[in-house]
Amino acid sequence: MANEINNFQEIISHCKEYGFIFQSSELYDGLSAVYDYGQMGAQLKKNLRDEWWKSMTQLHDNIVGIDAAIFMHPTVWKASGHVDNFSDPMIDNKDSNKRYRVDHLIEAYSETLDKTAGEAILIEMDRLLAADDLAGLKTLIDNNKIKCIISKTCNWTDVRQFNLMFSTQIGSVAEESDTIYLRPETAQGIFVNFLNVQKTGRMKIPFGIAQTGKAFRNEIVARQFIFRMREFEQMEMQFFVRPGTQMEWYNFWKETRKKWHESIGIPAEKLRYHDHVKLAHYADAALDIEFEFPFGWKELEGIHSRTDFDLTQHATYSKKKIQYFDNDLNAEGKPYGNYTPFVVETSVGLDRLFLTVISLAYTEEKWNKEDGTEDSRVVMKIPAKIAPIKLAILPLLKKDGLPEIASQLMHDCKQQFHCFYEEKDAIGKRYRRMDAIGTPFCVTIDHQTKEDNTVTIRYRDTMLQERINFADVKNLVINACS
Ligand code: ATP
Repeated sequence: MANEINNFQEIISHCKEYGFIFQSSELYDGLSAVYDYGQMGAQLKKNLRDEWWKSMTQLHDNIVGIDAAIFMHPTVWKASGHVDNFSDPMIDNKDSNKRYRVDHLIEAYSETLDKTAGEAILIEMDRLLAADDLAGLKTLIDNNKIKCIISKTCNWTDVRQFNLMFSTQIGSVAEESDTIYLRPETAQGIFVNFLNVQKTGRMKIPFGIAQTGKAFRNEIVARQFIFRMREFEQMEMQFFVRPGTQMEWYNFWKETRKKWHESIGIPAEKLRYHDHVKLAHYADAALDIEFEFPFGWKELEGIHSRTDFDLTQHATYSKKKIQYFDNDLNAEGKPYGNYTPFVVETSVGLDRLFLTVISLAYTEEKWNKEDGTEDSRVVMKIPAKIAPIKLAILPLLKKDGLPEIASQLMHDCKQQFHCFYEEKDAIGKRYRRMDAIGTPFCVTIDHQTKEDNTVTIRYRDTMLQERINFADVKNLVINACS
């Protein structure tokens, strides 16, 4: 039996070694909390994005997708509350000059305590955060003698709010320029397009607008690899509903999104809900769908009931009417008219989803061979439908017409899914390389193929091999990936 080990540092090294993720600008010693996706990572990320996009815009008749710009009018961020409120309580250590997010500092400290004491300090922290009690948070840190991990001292500044938005200038000449922000969330691009989409798409409430794209946050404590980045990608959907029905839809999306994660291969027992104690200024209910990452339970996706806050704010700041005329209310015998829709949001980080998938997939296996010696492999057990490469086509030898047959299979299959052709090295080595990048199927073309039109197919997870007809390969892979 294989002995399975799962280790976060090993996962990070593996991602680099096999072309999933590189540190950004590594040539210049890297840029903190910014990452590049390599040849395998970019494809895996695209497959995840495509799955989400399909589930939202293709499988729901009443959800459409848009692609709004990253740059937006600066007043958008005033209206949304980000200029005034998008901040986290921070504290600096005066000896190391290192800045910490207060909740992260206390959370890390709580992990060093026993369960009861750890939970007690987190409950107290949540209470103080909910009350915006910055002085109380400072006292909590002082009373518990929480130390800076670098200087190992308790010499702290007061707790202050720190805005997370990146700003830049628009316009070529400094005098003409105006400050604009890199969007910290994709949601606002949806709100400001609500009327455009509703009118041009003749959308009837309830309906949703989905979008994927980059978001930027000047995270202070950026750590845990791609879990918390300064440039990351979100997949968000804003669902517009009648006022008063928002809790019904909140519960619907809470269930639907968790099921979606399960549908891409995340086990139910690795997911849980976490209700927010402190609600954001725009929300009347909020929860996180958490995943058990190798470093603990953390937020993967947020489900927020955002009330009519955003549309009302944009109506006020733009001085335009942003409302919906509900014909159906009339048909139901109610007085019909205009109202500002309420919004339920689903917001998942694509990079966090990527980290979820690779932490589940990464597996080290060791076993004893028949001759008593030990063998091992590292295998990425990525579900077939999201694996970067679906099929490896491997001629056993570089001669005797085998490469020609393999090339024909490649030609037949590559219109349908990603294939990889390789003739170099012994077959065992080639299998191991495919295991390491998560290719679910390998097909070997050998001399018997010439005699009876069969090939050997090898299944990544079990390493079992069987002979199947050459003509059946394509459909077997298509069925496994659908
Ligand atoms: P956290 O509490 O972890 O900072 P958040 O509550 O600020 O997250 P939201 O504003 O709800 O996050 O953003 C929605 C989703 O975007 C999150 O669930 C997460 O998956 C993703 N996300 C947010 N910030 C980052 C980041 N810095 N790096 C990567 N993904 C992020």
